[in-house]
Amino acid sequence: MAEKIVIIGSGPAGWSAAIYAARANLSPLVYEGTVKPEMIPLGQLAFTTEVENYPGFPFGNIRAFVESAVDKGRHWNLPPAPDHKRDGVYHYAVQGVELMELMKQQALNFDTRVIGDDIVDLDLNTTPFKVIPANGEPIEAHTIVIATGARANYIGLESEENYKNKGVSACAVCDGALPLYRGKPLAVVGGGDSAVEEATYLANLKNAATIYMIIRRDEMRASKIMQQRALDHPNIEVKWNSVVDEVLGDGNLVNRLRLRNTVDDSTNEIEVGGMFVAIGHTPNTGFLKGKVQMNKKGYIQWQLPFRTNTSVDGVFAAGDVADDYYRQAITSAGTGCMAALDVERWLAEKGIE
Ligand SMILES: Cc1cc2nc3c(=O)[nH]c(=O)nc-3n(C[C@H](O)[C@H](O)[C@H](O)COP(=O)(O)OP(=O)(O)OC[C@H]3O[C@@H](n4cnc5c(N)ncnc54)[C@H](O)[C@@H]3O)c2cc1C
Repeated sequence: MAEKIVIIGSGPAGWSAAIYAARANLSPLVYEGTVKPEMIPLGQLAFTTEVENYPGFPFGNIRAFVESAVDKGRHWNLPPAPDHKRDGVYHYAVQGVELMELMKQQALNFDTRVIGDDIVDLDLNTTPFKVIPANGEPIEAHTIVIATGARANYIGLESEENYKNKGVSACAVCDGALPLYRGKPLAVVGGGDSAVEEATYLANLKNAATIYMIIRRDEMRASKIMQQRALDHPNIEVKWNSVVDEVLGDGNLVNRLRLRNTVDDSTNEIEVGGMFVAIGHTPNTGFLKGKVQMNKKGYIQWQLPFRTNTSVDGVFAAGDVADDYYRQAITSAGTGCMAALDVERWLAEKGIE
């Protein structure tokens, strides 16, 4: 028998869709993806430490709550609790993996089924649709929610990899206000609109120090109005014709960047407490080429305002895979909820029970 709803992806969008679908008795099946260097089960938040902006998780004794809520069999996946304590008790913002394990648990509590496999192909020309996993048997589905997210692009330096979460980040809005970066000179790599947005965000934070924008050429790709915003900002200093040659630090935290001049190949160092890479994202839509409509950047194109419908009737998209603008956990969770409600209404309209 065909599944009523198959959800592809295990980030905030996928689990939120699963929670809503499961509570509507649609018995969702989630493909959570397998471990890869750039994409992992539980999604992008599994790459980060504390998440300070997800509503409902102020600083507190998160560890006790997580351990009480998440099945013991998955405690091995929980990272060590940060060593911030108040009155001898843990007191910190929820960590990415903890938050995602809680979302997964909430979906499991309502009998969501989960398969640890990747979807490599979809046949959307037949109904029910055919969903083809990398290892298991193909299955049939009346509806599909694509929640495969996106991955941040990085420069590709080994030193950058070594300092991820220790001064290297790909999201200023997510991480910029963390104590790790607070009041320190910081660098933003990239010259597009989103790089300017990241730099401006950092430059406007309370006690912001100098924010360096590292730009490969002698001009920015950003729109004129965005460029002016950066150039006029008293806290932003642009390093033109520059690329990051090496991320330097004391082994624990970033403290400098070595920049290379793209015109004369000379190098120089700047002191920074962090580097934010803003050179774009790649949506995880490789297996969907030619199957659903995408925009120029390869993100799935929603077809109607405030709906998660894709160009294929019965296929819905949620989270970063269809959103190249907000890219936050809360917005992904929001569209995950919308996708499940859209599925529920679609099935009811078709009389599929
Ligand atoms: C370092 C970092 C820090 C961040 N910090 C914050 C923060 O503090 N606050 C905040 O709001 N946002 C933060 N974000 C952004 C946030 O993580 C994303 O907006 C959010 O995770 C997107 O959720 P999603 O469900 O759309 O997709 P993702 O989280 O990207 O999850 C997609 C999932 O789909 C799976 N998948 C992909 N392809 C397939 C396939 N073919 N088959 C099966 N599964 C597949 C992947 O393995 C992954 O599990 C951060 C991002 C990064 C990279």
